[in-house]
Amino acid sequence: MSEEPQLPPFPDLGDILDRKKRMVEKITSVIKCKECKAKYERPFKVGDYTFKALSDETCEKCNQSQNLMIEEIYSEWIDPKKQ
Ligand SMILES: [Zn+2]
Repeated sequence: MSEEPQLPPFPDLGDILDRKKRMVEKITSVIKCKECKAKYERPFKVGDYTFKALSDETCEKCNQSQNLMIEEIYSEWIDPKKQ
């Protein structure tokens, strides 16, 4: 039937919904080395928590593994297509 109301087109809506669907949560752990005072980030690993001592990892700056600690964990939503 031609009497059906026509919705105005929303050309961008599909794209917005698509983007929401493909957004992924990226969790990052901020590592602090008490030895060389370096602070750097690496992807979150299962078992990470704030102020956890990382005895099984080495500092990416000075390579020691005695004084590493997770200082902060944060997450952000990213669009993998924009990577
Ligand atoms: Zn270090």
